[in-house]
Amino acid sequence: MNLILFGPPAAGKGTQARRLVDQHGYIQLSTGDMLRAAIKAGSDLGRRVESVLAAGALVSDEIVIALIEEQLEASTGAPGFIFDGFPRTVAQAEALDAALARRGSRVDLVIRLVVDEDALLERVSKRFAEQGRKDDNPETFLTRLEKYNADTAPLVPIYADRGILREVDGMASIEKVTFAIDKALREAVA
Ligand code: ADP
Repeated sequence: MNLILFGPPAAGKGTQARRLVDQHGYIQLSTGDMLRAAIKAGSDLGRRVESVLAAGALVSDEIVIALIEEQLEASTGAPGFIFDGFPRTVAQAEALDAALARRGSRVDLVIRLVVDEDALLERVSKRFAEQGRKDDNPETFLTRLEKYNADTAPLVPIYADRGILREVDGMASIEKVTFAIDKALREAVA
């Protein structure tokens, strides 16, 4: 089972992905986490992307596709993957299809967390105060939201046309969202 958790920044993708990992043993592939780890480690890659993340812009397709390829390669035999924060562009979605196809696999399900943009701003201001993630400051967050609407939202009709898109109310409690995702997963394997 390969699942994409889809939605705007701060929709709760990371939180839900970690719960799915605990419950089902899937492997979470979060390009955001990978990039932040590279920055923290001070690697060449980290130095190259640091200012991009701080500005709320998108890292190049080439870089994130290479990161995903690396992790897919490192995790052969996994029971399934949860992609979180990837794909974010049409080119990334095409690269993911190709990478999975080469492994005899495909995207089975896309869960779209549907959230209200005003509520997101509120959530992210709270996260900024608690965790101090630079790109959570309100101004940068608005840039991230714009990038999402311009570059990432166009993936919705693509997956909808394939019949693999399910929508979940991302404004519900964390437990309720997990329950709704589980239900969609059960229906997808049935
Ligand atoms: P969130 O889900 O809260 O938006 P992420 O942790 O997924 O945050 O991403 C943080 C930042 O990392 C993005 O704003 C972007 O700069 C970069 N990034 C993460 N994933 C990708 C991707 N697939 N393509 C391009 N940039 C990415």
